[in-house]
Amino acid sequence: MTNRALVTGGAGFIGCHLVERLLDDGHEVTVIDDFSTGRPENLAHLRDRPGLRVIEGDICEPDALAKAFDGAEWVFHLAALADIVPSIQAPVPYHRANVEGTLAVLEAARAAGVKRLVYAASSSCYGVPDVFPTPESAPIRPMYPYALTKNIAEQYVMHWHQTYGLPAVSLRFFNVYGPRARTSGTYGAVFGVFLAQKLAGRPFTVVGDGTQTRDFTFVTDVVEAFILAARSDLAGEILNVGSGDSYSVNRLVELLGGEVIYVPKRPGEPDRTWGDTTRIEERLGWGPKITFEEGVARMVEEIEYWREAPVWTPETIVEATADWFRYLGAAKP
Ligand code: NAD
Repeated sequence: MTNRALVTGGAGFIGCHLVERLLDDGHEVTVIDDFSTGRPENLAHLRDRPGLRVIEGDICEPDALAKAFDGAEWVFHLAALADIVPSIQAPVPYHRANVEGTLAVLEAARAAGVKRLVYAASSSCYGVPDVFPTPESAPIRPMYPYALTKNIAEQYVMHWHQTYGLPAVSLRFFNVYGPRARTSGTYGAVFGVFLAQKLAGRPFTVVGDGTQTRDFTFVTDVVEAFILAARSDLAGEILNVGSGDSYSVNRLVELLGGEVIYVPKRPGEPDRTWGDTTRIEERLGWGPKITFEEGVARMVEEIEYWREAPVWTPETIVEATADWFRYLGAAKP
């Protein structure tokens, strides 16, 4: 059965992979994206596919949103500002896009009587966890405004289920990576940083001693979780989506191959992220398919994408993360 799907933030990294999969499965897809961090190039290869409609617009704008929701049956809500450092420097736009934007999407979904809404939540809500692998029941401890806004929005999503019966599911993603991962001017996810450095023949800037581990989850596995959640009859559920393992930054460097230079460890960052995926395995029969080694190899195959990305050096990283150290590292009374 095919459905009319709406993907908010569909021109972003994860969104463009989801759009491709939905079109491949024969669904009609509408994208709403304001291209604040998303790129038209991410959808360029899909431009001529029948069934794709792209609306350039802000989810906080009622007219654009109403147009996007026309006929929507499945809603995948990914639109958000997703960088850490800018959220510390300028939290208000993060609140607007991530919290107010989600509220607008929920109200539009309620009015449209959609079949299912799937929210792209973030495992950053766990902050620095005590339990590994970390289950959905772990305490919520956002460490910076991005994590806070994503979690407040998740609470709205669950509340709209509880109060209005909106058939909504929240997927908490761990570190998602894959082709077309963001390359914006902001210092961010380790893959983009390392691949641009590899292309430029510069050393990899490893944070701390590189023994910290991350639950790196390949983007097509994340897309599969979205699809299974939309097809399911689940509602009011929060599910972790992770790789089932946790890999060190040193292992990533080993797979990529190259020189290393160390930069200071940042306050508020966990030594480990590792999601417990028992619940999603039980509820949706979902499991990751791409191994870390395979995923890294695919990134390297598409390394040219990072040709225009900023090449970070220890000096530019110090500058870019000054506010991170200033606010998160400060002793609080
Ligand atoms: P991304 O920045 O590539 O995608 C976000 C998209 O939303 C962009 O295309 C951007 O232009 C769009 N957008 C932002 N504000 C908007 C607004 N007001 N109106 C319309 N569009 C707007 O980020 P991504 O990595 O693809 O993340 C997608 C979602 O998944 C986000 O909600 C993010 O919080 C969540 N997530 C990502 C990860 C990860 O590791 N990448 C982990 C956990 C959660």
